[in-house]
Amino acid sequence: TQAPVNVTVTGAAGQIGYALLFRIASGQLLGADTPVKLRLLEIPQAVKAAEGTAMELDDCAFPLLKGIDITDDAKKAFDGTNVALLVGARPRTKGMERGDLLAANGGIFKPQGEAINAGAADDVRVLVVGNPANTNALIAQAHAPDVPAERFTAMTRLDHNRALSQLSAKLGVAVTDIKKLTIWGNHSATQYPDLFNAEVGGKVAAEQVEQEWLKDTFIPTVAKRGAAIIEARGASSAASAANAAIDHVYDWVNGTPEGDWTSAAVVSDGSYGVPEGLISSFPVVSRNGRYEIVQGLEIGEFSRERIDASVQELIEERDAVKQLGLI
Ligand code: NDP
Repeated sequence: TQAPVNVTVTGAAGQIGYALLFRIASGQLLGADTPVKLRLLEIPQAVKAAEGTAMELDDCAFPLLKGIDITDDAKKAFDGTNVALLVGARPRTKGMERGDLLAANGGIFKPQGEAINAGAADDVRVLVVGNPANTNALIAQAHAPDVPAERFTAMTRLDHNRALSQLSAKLGVAVTDIKKLTIWGNHSATQYPDLFNAEVGGKVAAEQVEQEWLKDTFIPTVAKRGAAIIEARGASSAASAANAAIDHVYDWVNGTPEGDWTSAAVVSDGSYGVPEGLISSFPVVSRNGRYEIVQGLEIGEFSRERIDASVQELIEERDAVKQLGLI
């Protein structure tokens, strides 16, 4: 039988953590044949709450769950880790400037990058969920020089899934009828969900909807869905974010289906004019355990403008963390 895979979750006592841990332990992250060991990282004040979640995990008697460690020490949390889900982050509070937000998150993601560099397993895969996710991933990656940069990714899969759902409702088709949808850029309000390269029933998706709907309804609905959930639920999305994290890692490990791709923020190799080194969302396929950027897509003027605007925001975030000495 297979040795357990070590999965580290930071911010384990938070909302997303609560929705995520049970699915990991049940086998949905890596597959029904893969035993897992969980490492929960929390800040000292939240360790007790994480212990409570661990008690509930015990009470599920999951056959695949081979142990749970809880710590407030990043070094311990990432020692030997194979999959690291960086969920805990410093949220933006009212009146907070972007520089303060980036500095606070630098204080979290720099030591975590260093701990990953020092102790993670050779095959480590890192997914950053905590916002600002792309730039937090960039900070962690910059402090892990011994880990291949491609192992650091940030999550845009929830945006991707939201776009699939909106388009399927609009066209009255199954989500599985939609292929090759892409989220480009930053996981923020500037993200660009691209229907020009997407296909429904083998035909271009953008040609099956009114251009006004695409521009004035679809794009803003996908980009602002998080705020709409907060408005309706009184709390930010958690189960859907956890679900997207599961999808991202599952596909990374197990591959994407032939004839389709998904979206993930990965280190740019300069493709599509995105500066090398930025962690930006692209169309990606997963092959042999690696996410690869889909090449050769045509980018029209409408898309170009929007991709450039989102990438510009990432450049500004990168420059700000550089100035703060965080990368
Ligand atoms: P959540 O579990 O709801 O969210 C965690 C992070 O995920 C936030 O940064 C949030 O960003 C982000 N996120 C990304 N995508 C989404 C999405 N689609 N919907 C909602 N959130 C998204 O936060 P909680 O406050 O419940 O829990 C955070 C936990 O992290 C706390 O227990 C805290 O103690 C812990 N923490 C742990 C650290 C560590 O382990 N070193 C460091 C810092 C915090 P946004 O705020 O923009 O919604």
